[in-house]
Amino acid sequence: MSSPAPPARPPSASPRTAPDPDPAAVEGRQDFVRQIVRDDLASGRHRAIRTRFPPEPNGYLHIGHAKAICLDFGLAAEFGGRCNLRFDDTNPAKEDPEFVEAIQDDVRWLGFEWASLRHASDYFEVFYLAAEKLIRQGDAFVCDLSAEQVREYRGTLTAPGRESPFRDRAVDENLDLFRRMRAGEFADGARTLRAKIDMSSGNINLRDPALYRIKKVAHQNTGDAWPIYPMYDYAHALGDAVEGITHSLCTLEFEDHRPLYDWCVERVDLAGDPGLLRPLLERGLPSEAGRPRQIEFSRLNINYAVMSKRKLSALVADGLVDGWDDPRMYTLQGLRRRGYTPAALRLFVDRLGISKQNSVIDFSVLEGALRDDLDAHAERRMAVVDPLRLVLTNLPDGHAETLSFANHPKDETRGRRAVPFSNVVWIERDDFAEVPPKGWKRLIPGGEVRLRGAGIVRCDEVVKDAGGAVVELRGTLDPESRPGMEGANRKVKGTLHWVGAAQAVAAEIRLYDRLFSVADPDDESGGLTYRDHLNPESRRTVRGYVEPAAAQAAPEQGFQFERLGYFVADRHDHRPDAPVFNRSVTLRDTWASKA
Ligand code: ATP
Ligand code: MG
Repeated sequence: MSSPAPPARPPSASPRTAPDPDPAAVEGRQDFVRQIVRDDLASGRHRAIRTRFPPEPNGYLHIGHAKAICLDFGLAAEFGGRCNLRFDDTNPAKEDPEFVEAIQDDVRWLGFEWASLRHASDYFEVFYLAAEKLIRQGDAFVCDLSAEQVREYRGTLTAPGRESPFRDRAVDENLDLFRRMRAGEFADGARTLRAKIDMSSGNINLRDPALYRIKKVAHQNTGDAWPIYPMYDYAHALGDAVEGITHSLCTLEFEDHRPLYDWCVERVDLAGDPGLLRPLLERGLPSEAGRPRQIEFSRLNINYAVMSKRKLSALVADGLVDGWDDPRMYTLQGLRRRGYTPAALRLFVDRLGISKQNSVIDFSVLEGALRDDLDAHAERRMAVVDPLRLVLTNLPDGHAETLSFANHPKDETRGRRAVPFSNVVWIERDDFAEVPPKGWKRLIPGGEVRLRGAGIVRCDEVVKDAGGAVVELRGTLDPESRPGMEGANRKVKGTLHWVGAAQAVAAEIRLYDRLFSVADPDDESGGLTYRDHLNPESRRTVRGYVEPAAAQAAPEQGFQFERLGYFVADRHDHRPDAPVFNRSVTLRDTWASKA
C-alpha cells in the first residue's frame, strides 16, 4: 500500500480499500474504546457497530483528524461494522464546497472508504420536526432574549443561572413563533429556540442551551431554504441517532457536552418515533435510527506545530505559507506533498494508541513512523544537493559506462537499475574538506574514498577560483577497485554518493524543516504569537543533480536519496525533464544534534 506509485498511475487513483492487512497490528490495539466495542458485541447490545467521522467543512483536515479517521474507520473495518462520512455543515457562514471535496480526497487517500456519505443538512427537515416535538412535550421554548442577555442569565461556574422570562410560554405560542422563525419572519439573532433543562445545573451546557438560531445565510448545500440553523450539540446528537451510530467517538472537550447529547437523543427518541424520519424516506435516504453512545478520547497534539483550523487558515490567508498543501503544514494535504504516505500516518496513529490522557507528542514520533515506512518501501537513488565537480583524470575524456545498482538493499523484488557513470561526477561539496576536522572519514587532498558502487578514488588536485573557493577536484580512479575486480573490497574509510555528470539531470530540491522554531507556538505568555515563531529556515531551495532513474519518477513517488534522506517528487511541479523533489525527512533525527 505504501509502495511508490508505478509511473503510469495517476495520483488520484490511490488504493481505497480499508487497510487492515496486518493482524498483528489489529491484535496490538488494546485501547479502552476497542474494549467497549468488544464488550458491546459480546453482550449482544449491538449486532454490528456503526461509527462516523464528522468533520466541519470549514478547513482542510490536519494530522489530528487523521487520528480520529483511523479510529472511526479503523474500528468499523476491524469489527466488521460500517463508518459514515458526515459533514457537520450547520454553520454555513464558514463552510465551502472546496473543503467538502478536499476532505473526501483526504479520507480516501488515507486508505478509507465510507459506507455512506452524509451531511447534517440532509437531516434539517428531521431536526425541525424533532424540535416541534420537543416544543409539544414542553422540552423547548422560543426565547426573545438577546445574545448578550442570554450570556448574562447563564450564570457562571460558581453561580447558577436565571430562568428566561420566556421560559413558560404556552406550547401553542412556542409552536407559532418557531414556525415563524422557520418562515423567515424575524431578524438574525432576534430569537432562539432553547431546550428547557435546568438553569441551576452545575454543567453550564445544560442551562437551557440554544437548539436553533436565526441566521439568514445561504448554505452551500441547502441554498436559501433555511433561515434557521440547528446548533452543533443538537444536530450532532440527532445526526448520530438518525444514522444508527452505535459508538459516537469524539475528543475530550466534548465530555461536558455528553449530558446534553444524551438529553437530545432521549427526549427526541428518533428510534421510537419513526414518523420523524419521514422526510428522509421521501428523499430515498435510508435510516436506521438508534440510540448512540458518545465516547471521548484525547486529542492529538504535536509540538512545533499549530493545529487549530483558525490558525492554519490565517497562515494561508496571510501568505505565510504557500497554501493549504504547503509541505511544511501539518494538514493532510501538506503532509502528502511533503512525502508522507498513508501507511506512515496510520503507523503513527497506531503507535500513539487511544486513551483519555492529554499529551503533546514529540514530532520525532511522526518522523520516526515515516522513516520506518520509507526505509522498508522506498527505493534508493543517488542525488547531490550541493554539487562539486570531480574529474577522474585516468579515465578518457567522454568516458561513459553503466553500472547496475539494487533498488532496495533489503528487498530483491525491487529489482535493479542502470546508473550511468562517467569520467566526471558530482559529489557533495561538504564531503570534501581541505582541512578536515577530527574523525573525518570523507575526501581530503591526497586522500581516498569509495564512490559507492564505482570504485576507489584519490584526490590529486584541488582547483580554486580567483577568490580561493574550491571549484573542482581532480583525481584518479583505482582500476583494481572497480566492481568485480580483485581490489573491489579494499578497505577505505569513507563511502560517498555521487551522480555521473554526463547523464545527471539538474533538479530543484526543496529542503524542508519545521515551520516553527519553538516547541509550543500556541503559547502567547511572552506577548508573542505563533506568527512570531515561524522558522526562517523552514524551506531552502537548492539546485542539485539526480540520476536519470530519479528524474523519471512519477509525481508523489518517494525515494531514499542515499546518505541524504527521503525525498518525494513534487505532486504538482515535478517533471522528468525538470525534476522537483521535496525532502520528506532526513535519515536520522538531526534536529536534536543541531539544537
Ligand atoms: P479544529 O479545532 O482544529 O478546528 P475541529 O475539532 O473543529 O478542529 P472538526 O472538523 O469538528 O474539527 O473535527 C472532526 C472530528 O475530528 C471530530 O470528531 C474531532 O473530535 C476530531 N478531531 C479534530 N481535531 C483532532 C485532534 N487534534 N485529535 C484527534 N481528533 C481530532
Ligand atoms: Mg469542531
